[in-house]
Order: sequence, then C-alpha cells, then structure tokens
Amino acid sequence: DPRLKGISEAIRVVPNFPKPGIMFQDITALVSNHKVFKDTVDLFVDRYRDMGISVVAGVEARGFIFAPSIALGIGAKFIPLRKPGKLPGEVISEAYELEYGNDCLEMHVGAVEQGDRALVIDDLVATGGTLSAAISLLERVGAEVIECACVIGLPEVEGRRRLDGKPLYILVGPR
Ligand code: 5GP
Repeated sequence: DPRLKGISEAIRVVPNFPKPGIMFQDITALVSNHKVFKDTVDLFVDRYRDMGISVVAGVEARGFIFAPSIALGIGAKFIPLRKPGKLPGEVISEAYELEYGNDCLEMHVGAVEQGDRALVIDDLVATGGTLSAAISLLERVGAEVIECACVIGLPEVEGRRRLDGKPLYILVGPR
C-alpha cells in the first residue's frame, strides 16, 4: 500500500530518549500531519470495518491517540486500558514485565462484556509484554480478542505474526 511509505517517513527517531541507547520512535510528527494521520487511521478502519469488532481497547498513553478514531470509524465502543490508579471505578489489574522493572494495566469492571469482540491498539510493540497484559485483561472478563494492532513493530517482535496465539497486525517497522 503506497500510504505505508508516508507513514514510515513521518516517524521521527530521537536517539537516547528516554535514556541512553534507546532510539525512540516518535509518532507526534506523524499525527501532526493530517494526511498521514488520516492514512494511518484509514488503514486500520478499512481492515477492521467488517470484522464484527464491538470494542476497541486503547493502551495508555499513545494507544489513546489512535484507538478512539478507529473505534468511531468502525462503529465500536472505545475503552481505555490505563496505568495504575487512574480509573475511578472498580478495576481489574494485570502486571507485566518491562526491560527494567514492572508495570501494570487496569480496566474498569463492566467496560467490556462477555462475548465482546475486541481489537487492542497501541502505537508500538517491542517485546509484546504490554499487549499480552491487555489480552489477559480482556479475556479475564470473557471478551474474545480478535487481533492486536500497532503502527510500529520493533525487530524484537517483527516477523511474529501472532502474540499469545492472537493475530498481530503491524503497519511499519522502526525508522
Ligand atoms: P513492549 O511491552 O512491547 O515491550 O513495549 C511497548 C510499549 O512501550 C508501548 O506501550 C509503547 O508505547 C512503548 N514504547 C517503547 N518504546 C517506544 C518507542 O520507541 N516509541 C514509542 N512511541 N513507544 C515506545
């Protein structure tokens, strides 16, 4: 798809952010270009429009930039998967490992129902740990995870078309 080249070129690499040795893939330039942002959302909407998705779960924080537009585009509800202590209602939590240390995602109880068909959205997948936690949260309440999708896939996960047995869809590799 010719739109992928423009998307890839709009990703800015910031060396040594947030710490030395990391080549941070910055998507702020991508979303500040209307055409490229729209192309990105359109690619996801075209893919998921007819897949019977009932809920789009966005991962805090950069998943929130893409997931609501995709949800509106395909006629599904949006739900936020948040970092600990942010959601005011009753939550379920799933801890996961980072390169250094641990993190956790939370979801409101009742946000997703048994039988919901879920799409999980984040900006970038590296080890897949974050998406695995998201999959667990959704499955614990009886949702079916149809696919996980990210704009960028780092080499750690590139070539893997599945994650915890779920299909993984990636638009572009890192810059
Ligand atoms: P994983 O859990 O797959 O190892 O890491 C993916 C998570 O880390 C995503 O939530 C993503 O937002 C964040 N992340 C890690 N490195 C980068 C990066 O270089 N750029 C961006 N935009 N996000 C990153």
